[in-house]
Amino acid sequence: MADVKVIQTVSEMHRVADQIRADGLQIGLVPTMGFLHEGHLSLIGRARRCADRVVVSIFVNPTQFGPQEDLEAYPLDFERDRMLIGDFGGDLIYAPDAEEMYPEGYASYVDVEGLTRHLCGASRPGHFRGVTTVVTKLFAAVKPHVAIFGQKDAQQAAVIRRMAQDLNLDVEVLVSPTIREVDGLAKSSRNFYLSPEERQEASVLYQALQKAKCLVADGERRADVVIGEMRELIERRPLAQIDYIEAVDTADLQPMEEFSGEILLALAVQFGKARLIDNLVVHTA
Ligand code: AMP
Repeated sequence: MADVKVIQTVSEMHRVADQIRADGLQIGLVPTMGFLHEGHLSLIGRARRCADRVVVSIFVNPTQFGPQEDLEAYPLDFERDRMLIGDFGGDLIYAPDAEEMYPEGYASYVDVEGLTRHLCGASRPGHFRGVTTVVTKLFAAVKPHVAIFGQKDAQQAAVIRRMAQDLNLDVEVLVSPTIREVDGLAKSSRNFYLSPEERQEASVLYQALQKAKCLVADGERRADVVIGEMRELIERRPLAQIDYIEAVDTADLQPMEEFSGEILLALAVQFGKARLIDNLVVHTA
């Protein structure tokens, strides 16, 4: 296994990033909250292919969790993550602690409007403000040429793309496909919370997305019909509690009543302690 250096301070991260850049090399960043799975590893692989040095950040960002959310319980296994990162081609881990990121007196936040109005932006107030703030800070510390995000968090990827464009950040934002279990459940650190029964039922999320895709392929254009069918399928699972099911335009993430063009079907469903999200892009043409 390659020896993966761990950096915990902004000043050390700046020094190392400046050195890599001075050597004429490209930096790829994969931001994560740790407890890595194949989804994260696929992003590291993508970064490896498009950059010379791959930095994986591990930071469970308190500002993106609401007061009733799972910050305290979020799963961690730093040593396992470190081994996986080495095995899958990461060169450096940037793992600051909360004090380093948000010292006493911290007062600056980044907010993206519009794209954050619906989906998780509506059901997790303040969440994206925390995400865009921490990603800005990670970009500032790591100075990446390219940063890789997962389509699994489609709204997050769209918001970060918009932020990078609006704030003229000199970072290329790439989005990689969702990696799934064999039954279609999207890999997620939060799947760890699922009981065996919840885990079994959770495959309904993918089934609902596939059902929607079939309906659209068969010519259905009414959002309420498609969403109604998805809802009906998920509600048959007794352990599932729907947070939202929405259909939005991929361009602006605003709800669509009549489908045309490219539509993002997105859902969030609670199974016990785990709030799971998933999505699929469908086309009418
Ligand atoms: P997280 O650690 O959950 O904050 O995720 C870190 C990055 O991994 C984000 O860009 C996620 O979108 C991405 N990611 C999480 N799960 C998956 C997955 N199943 N497939 C692809 N990317 C993922």
